[in-house]
Amino acid sequence: MIRKIDKNSIGEALRAAYDHCKNDAGGKNADYIPYLKNVPSNLFGIAACLPDGELLTVGDTDFRFGIESVSKVPTALLAMEQYGAREVLHKIGADATGLPFNSIMAILLENDHPSTPLVNAGAISACSMIRPTGDPAAKWQAITGFLAELAGSSVAVIDELYRSESETNFNNRSIAWLLKNYGRIYDDPMQALDLYTRQCSIGVTAAQLAVAAATIAAGGVNPLTHKRVFRSELTPRIVALMATVGFYEHTGDWLFETGLPAKSGVGGGIMAVVPGVMGLAAFAPPLDSAGNSVKAQKALSFIARELDLNLFGTTRCTMAVPAPAEA
Ligand code: GLN
Repeated sequence: MIRKIDKNSIGEALRAAYDHCKNDAGGKNADYIPYLKNVPSNLFGIAACLPDGELLTVGDTDFRFGIESVSKVPTALLAMEQYGAREVLHKIGADATGLPFNSIMAILLENDHPSTPLVNAGAISACSMIRPTGDPAAKWQAITGFLAELAGSSVAVIDELYRSESETNFNNRSIAWLLKNYGRIYDDPMQALDLYTRQCSIGVTAAQLAVAAATIAAGGVNPLTHKRVFRSELTPRIVALMATVGFYEHTGDWLFETGLPAKSGVGGGIMAVVPGVMGLAAFAPPLDSAGNSVKAQKALSFIARELDLNLFGTTRCTMAVPAPAEA
């Protein structure tokens, strides 16, 4: 069955989701990174980016928050763009760990590879792969430039967050050295860790995440700029990774509930991709026990139900507007 959705039905779903969730008081801000503890907990925004680049927003969608683990998505894509999806599968992997995002146990259990670029170990490994290796400044340009192209606007590090993360990232330091021990760091380990920490500290808005998700949904063409950012064959690869591990040890619960591939970050952001249709994002700082925003999950789950976005269902959503033309 095909269900046609349009700007109006999506806008209504966003507003209804906002009203339904705005008073939810569940969860609490991340506190293991001091900066995140102090972000106002009541911030809440939802954004959708349609195939013609139009943005629908409700709430705090212009507030810049820490991208955190959502940054694992663009860097995994960039690694696949530079090396090919197979090589990333071979060097990092694509399996769920079923364990927390910063698990050292997961590395010990799977000492043949770091599991997936969407957990800390695999993301640090992906940062080590980014070309040109041996040149951290140029690698950083590649990472931020790629994210900006996905989002259709520039991005910058939140300096205070970067300091806060760098001063407290001892667990991630252990991960980097352990991966080095297993031959899964493809450049200098401490430089890879620093790139990872810096990319997590980039400030983004929910609106930017929605555009980035829409670029993925559109097979790599940014619907705002019409620029091709990555090869279209990488969309099913990255969407599969998001579906597999986007919410860490709660990923099964999320997928069971929504059937919507998405990726969370401890800054409170979640980016969701509806392949061939649109990009969605939601932001609210308080998190569940796995580090996923409680309110953003609720809002996106509400929208998925409202618009029949579950990819495993028998209804396929299509947009009443055409896909973006490549410039
Ligand atoms: N920078 C955070 C960390 O490495 C990101 C974690 C997350 O968003 N799940 O711990």
